[in-house]
Amino acid sequence: MAEKKGFLLVISGPSGVGKGTVCTTLMASHPQLKLSTSVTTRTKRPEEKEGVSYYFKTTEEFENMIRADGLLEYAKVHGNFYGTPKDFVNQQIEQGEIVILEIDVQGALQVKQNHPGAVFVFLLPPDMEELRRRIVTRGTETQEVIELRMKNARNEISYIHKYDYIVINNEVQSAAEQIYTIIRAERMRVVNNPHIEESMR
Ligand code: 5GP
Repeated sequence: MAEKKGFLLVISGPSGVGKGTVCTTLMASHPQLKLSTSVTTRTKRPEEKEGVSYYFKTTEEFENMIRADGLLEYAKVHGNFYGTPKDFVNQQIEQGEIVILEIDVQGALQVKQNHPGAVFVFLLPPDMEELRRRIVTRGTETQEVIELRMKNARNEISYIHKYDYIVINNEVQSAAEQIYTIIRAERMRVVNNPHIEESMR
């Protein structure tokens, strides 16, 4: 068994809040963290790379993964399926690593049921107008999709009480460091250091 216990850190937040950028920044500064790559049935955006942003799957392939019990959690978000491959997460946790999941609230609630030691962080925009501005600025979405994402954002935020921590994404570097502060504190939990007492004898 690894000296320190690994755990899952779930990051959720409304579409457009900057979860992807914050996670990329967090990983760049702290490459020892493990970021889980999700599978999705969504169409690949031009800047995205297979196996880096997501593993892009057909609906049939996705359904096969569900049937084979290959997903830790999955959900339909904005009309597409997204899920977390189970094997990578389990292997990493087993080795004492900290695995970051960037997933929606439906998925987070499933993780909460199945992984009692997981830590839940909710990333918020400074305010809702700023969120709309960020979604519009991204420019890849139609007006209809923007409205759907704003509605979904309000719905997602209504689940914030299920989470352990909030981080406001005013500035990316600072949000990433706040998340790392949470990770450091969680790493120091007695339950995450099962051999500490023994090692002090
Ligand atoms: P996007 O299409 O903008 O990349 O992501 C849309 C939403 O899907 C985001 O809220 C993102 O957090 C969520 N998402 C991405 N991967 C997963 C996953 O594996 N499981 C779940 N439940 N949600 C995911």
